[in-house]
Amino acid sequence: MTIARPVLRAVIDDATRASPRECCGLLLGTDDRIVEAVRARNLAESASRYLIDPEDHIRARRDARVRALEVVGFYHSHPASRAWPSPSDIAEASDEDAVWMIVGVSQGEPEIRLFAIANGQARELTYDVDG
Ligand SMILES: [Zn+2]
Repeated sequence: MTIARPVLRAVIDDATRASPRECCGLLLGTDDRIVEAVRARNLAESASRYLIDPEDHIRARRDARVRALEVVGFYHSHPASRAWPSPSDIAEASDEDAVWMIVGVSQGEPEIRLFAIANGQARELTYDVDG
């Protein structure tokens, strides 16, 4: 997987701004490339959970289609913990084909990790950054 550098900046900005609450959003791209992060409302308004506003989800999906992109995954932040999936992140991961990005901003340098989550298991994915 390759991530365009502006995506990393965007999700770190979003995470920093939303702290101490979690931010969340969608990742647009193609099969093996994430080109854009689209912010969404976190209906959970929580420091330890997120729930992407379904209206934002639908809008992002429509925007993506118009531009020949897909929703390849989702991101959210961990304002007070490392960038590893929580039990609820794993339990609530609804799409086995999606990539799940977690932005940890609890300490020093922001930490960004990417996961595939299926059958109650999270597997970390490696990625390159370009742009
Ligand atoms: Zn989480």
